This record gives sequence, structure tokens and C-alpha cells, in this order.
Amino acid sequence: MRQCEQCTVKFEPKVSYQIYCSVNCREEATKEKIAQRYEITRTQKRIGKRRICLGGCGAQLSIYNDSGFCYNCNVYEKRVQKMLKQIKGFFDYEQDN
Ligand SMILES: [Zn+2]
Ligand SMILES: [Zn+2]
Repeated sequence: MRQCEQCTVKFEPKVSYQIYCSVNCREEATKEKIAQRYEITRTQKRIGKRRICLGGCGAQLSIYNDSGFCYNCNVYEKRVQKMLKQIKGFFDYEQDN
């Protein structure tokens, strides 16, 4: 008996190198591995590159930053978008009447 590396179900391997209980689990595991590798290369590509915050504050971003904004600007960006949404909502309301 062997334990599936994906779903941890116990199964009887048909071949000695079988590590997943089913095709489904093998495909799931493969997908996860590809996603993981993609995540790693995406992060590593940023090493050595100067990434500056898109908010224009001049802050340098960490390689793990996905948004393009530093923490401060990200908060600000969210606030602006919320405000814009509110303004838009206000105008939609006006037009409806
Ligand atoms: Zn499985
Ligand atoms: Zn910033």
C-alpha cells in the first residue's frame, strides 16, 4: 500500500513508481507544480531589477510585491478606487432619477 502524494488516500500502486492514486490526482499535482514553478520564476526575475512604486512615491518594491504599489500607495490606491466608486454610484443615482 502506498499513500497518494496529492490526496493522501491509500492505494495499491499498479507500477512501482506510481505516487498518485488516480489520473486526476496526478494532473492536479502537475498543475500545482507548474503554478509553483511559475510563481518562483516570476519572483526570481525581479531579483537585481529596481522596481519602483507606481504610485510615484519613489519607494523600492520587494521582489514579492505583485501590485506594483508600495504598501502606503496601495492603501491610498484602494481608498481612491473606493472614492471613485462612490462618486460613480452617486452619478448613477442622479441619472436614474
Ligand atoms: Zn490521490
Ligand atoms: Zn509608493
